[in-house]
Amino acid sequence: MVPEKGKDGLRRYHMWAGHPQGEKEDTTRCIEEVCAAGRAILFYQCNRKRGFGPGNLYCKQHDPVEVKRRAAEVEARWKAKQAARAHPYQQAADGLVLADALLDIDARMNWELMGKTMPVGWKMILVPLARKVKSGGSI
Ligand SMILES: [Zn+2]
Repeated sequence: MVPEKGKDGLRRYHMWAGHPQGEKEDTTRCIEEVCAAGRAILFYQCNRKRGFGPGNLYCKQHDPVEVKRRAAEVEARWKAKQAARAHPYQQAADGLVLADALLDIDARMNWELMGKTMPVGWKMILVPLARKVKSGGSI
């Protein structure tokens, strides 16, 4: 939040009943009003040097463009998290496709014709696993 300018063109910070005049804006500092850590009712002018955002009135952290960018980043992270939550279903679908493909290969494969010995893992592991996935079990 940025306070409105007063009659003298300067903003006032840290205004409250016991400090009705507040503190005049320091024109070298960011115009954002921030609250003291752990003391949510005491607001001060941001301590960082200005030089960013509209009119170079903000510090890098409070530059509205930067604030927007960070919010978008948080939202993107949240969306990614939601997508990850849906991921088990995608994995199950992938598993079924994989199992189908493997069983199809198994049905068509003729190792003898290829002059090869069937790998032990093929019949002992992969095909049983594919059948298990197809029957509703998970890997
Ligand atoms: Zn600032």
